[in-house]
Amino acid sequence: MTDLRDQLPAFEAAARRLLGHRPKPTRTRASRPATCHPSSAHYARGLCRRCYDHHHDHGTLTSHATTRWRLRTAEFAAEYALLRSDGHTRTAIAARLGVTRNAVDQAYRRAVRAGLLTPDRRAA
Ligand SMILES: [Zn+2]
Repeated sequence: MTDLRDQLPAFEAAARRLLGHRPKPTRTRASRPATCHPSSAHYARGLCRRCYDHHHDHGTLTSHATTRWRLRTAEFAAEYALLRSDGHTRTAIAARLGVTRNAVDQAYRRAVRAGLLTPDRRAA
Protein backbone atom coordinates (compact mmCIF):
# COMPACT_ATOMS: atom_id res chain seq x y z
CA MET A 1 0.00 0.00 0.00
CA THR A 2 1.34 3.41 -0.87
CA ASP A 3 1.48 6.06 1.76
CA LEU A 4 -1.26 8.63 1.13
CA ARG A 5 1.11 11.35 2.22
CA ASP A 6 3.17 10.70 -0.92
CA GLN A 7 0.16 11.63 -2.98
CA LEU A 8 -0.62 14.85 -1.16
CA PRO A 9 1.17 17.14 -3.65
CA ALA A 10 -0.81 15.56 -6.51
CA PHE A 11 -4.09 15.95 -4.58
CA GLU A 12 -3.26 19.54 -3.77
CA ALA A 13 -2.44 20.32 -7.41
CA ALA A 14 -5.71 18.75 -8.54
CA ALA A 15 -7.68 20.66 -5.92
CA ARG A 16 -6.07 23.93 -6.96
CA ARG A 17 -6.94 23.23 -10.60
CA LEU A 18 -10.55 22.53 -9.61
CA LEU A 19 -10.79 25.69 -7.54
CA GLY A 20 -9.23 27.80 -10.23
CA HIS A 21 -6.50 28.73 -7.81
CA ARG A 22 -4.35 31.69 -8.73
CA PRO A 23 -1.19 32.38 -6.80
CA LYS A 24 -1.59 35.48 -4.64
CA PRO A 25 0.20 38.54 -6.00
CA THR A 26 3.16 39.23 -3.78
CA ARG A 27 2.36 42.95 -3.74
CA THR A 28 -1.15 44.32 -3.76
CA ARG A 29 -0.15 47.88 -4.59
CA ALA A 30 2.77 49.45 -6.37
CA SER A 31 5.57 49.65 -3.85
CA ARG A 32 8.69 51.71 -3.96
CA PRO A 33 12.12 50.20 -3.48
CA ALA A 34 13.83 50.42 -0.11
CA THR A 35 16.57 53.06 0.14
CA CYS A 36 18.89 50.69 2.02
CA HIS A 37 18.56 47.87 -0.51
CA PRO A 38 16.96 49.12 -3.75
CA SER A 39 16.39 45.56 -4.91
CA SER A 40 14.16 44.94 -1.88
CA ALA A 41 10.63 46.20 -1.35
CA HIS A 42 10.14 49.17 0.93
CA TYR A 43 8.74 48.21 4.33
CA ALA A 44 8.86 51.32 6.52
CA ARG A 45 11.03 54.41 7.10
CA GLY A 46 12.71 53.89 3.74
CA LEU A 47 14.00 50.51 4.87
CA CYS A 48 13.43 46.96 3.72
CA ARG A 49 11.91 44.52 6.21
CA ARG A 50 15.27 43.01 7.21
CA CYS A 51 16.90 46.36 7.92
CA TYR A 52 13.79 47.67 9.67
CA ASP A 53 13.80 44.66 11.99
CA HIS A 54 17.53 45.06 12.57
CA HIS A 55 17.21 48.75 13.51
CA HIS A 56 14.13 47.96 15.58
CA ASP A 57 16.02 45.33 17.56
CA HIS A 58 19.04 47.60 18.04
CA GLY A 59 17.03 50.69 18.97
CA THR A 60 18.42 52.64 16.03
CA LEU A 61 15.16 53.31 14.17
CA THR A 62 15.17 56.95 15.25
CA SER A 63 18.03 57.67 12.84
CA HIS A 64 15.68 56.65 10.01
CA ALA A 65 13.04 59.34 9.88
CA THR A 66 9.57 58.70 8.53
CA THR A 67 8.51 60.48 5.35
CA ARG A 68 5.92 62.49 7.29
CA TRP A 69 8.50 63.52 9.84
CA ARG A 70 10.87 64.64 7.07
CA LEU A 71 8.14 66.68 5.41
CA ARG A 72 7.03 68.33 8.64
CA THR A 73 10.59 69.14 9.61
CA ALA A 74 11.48 70.48 6.17
CA GLU A 75 8.35 72.63 6.24
CA PHE A 76 9.21 73.96 9.67
CA ALA A 77 12.82 74.65 8.67
CA ALA A 78 11.75 76.66 5.63
CA GLU A 79 9.26 78.70 7.63
CA TYR A 80 11.65 79.19 10.51
CA ALA A 81 14.50 80.33 8.26
CA LEU A 82 12.20 82.82 6.54
CA LEU A 83 10.82 84.31 9.76
CA ARG A 84 14.25 84.32 11.32
CA SER A 85 15.69 86.23 8.35
CA ASP A 86 12.93 88.80 8.88
CA GLY A 87 14.36 89.33 12.34
CA HIS A 88 11.70 87.50 14.35
CA THR A 89 12.64 86.04 17.73
CA ARG A 90 11.87 82.41 18.47
CA THR A 91 9.10 83.52 20.79
CA ALA A 92 7.59 85.58 17.96
CA ILE A 93 7.98 82.65 15.58
CA ALA A 94 6.21 80.38 18.07
CA ALA A 95 3.31 82.84 18.28
CA ARG A 96 3.25 83.12 14.51
CA LEU A 97 3.13 79.33 14.05
CA GLY A 98 0.61 78.90 16.85
CA VAL A 99 2.83 76.61 18.92
CA THR A 100 4.69 76.95 22.21
CA ARG A 101 8.19 78.35 22.38
CA ASN A 102 9.32 74.95 23.64
CA ALA A 103 7.87 73.28 20.54
CA VAL A 104 9.82 75.69 18.34
CA ASP A 105 13.03 74.93 20.26
CA GLN A 106 12.49 71.19 19.79
CA ALA A 107 11.59 71.46 16.10
CA TYR A 108 14.60 73.73 15.62
CA ARG A 109 16.96 71.19 17.18
CA ARG A 110 15.47 68.39 15.04
CA ALA A 111 15.89 70.47 11.90
CA VAL A 112 19.52 71.29 12.76
CA ARG A 113 20.26 67.61 13.46
CA ALA A 114 18.68 66.71 10.11
CA GLY A 115 20.93 69.28 8.42
CA LEU A 116 17.96 71.41 7.32
CA LEU A 117 18.95 74.49 9.32
CA THR A 118 22.27 76.01 10.17
CA PRO A 119 22.56 76.70 13.91
CA ASP A 120 21.54 80.20 15.02
CA ARG A 121 24.15 82.53 16.41
CA ARG A 122 21.62 83.76 18.93
CA ALA A 123 18.94 81.67 20.59
CA ALA A 124 16.64 84.54 21.52
ZN1 LIG B 1 17.72 46.88 3.69
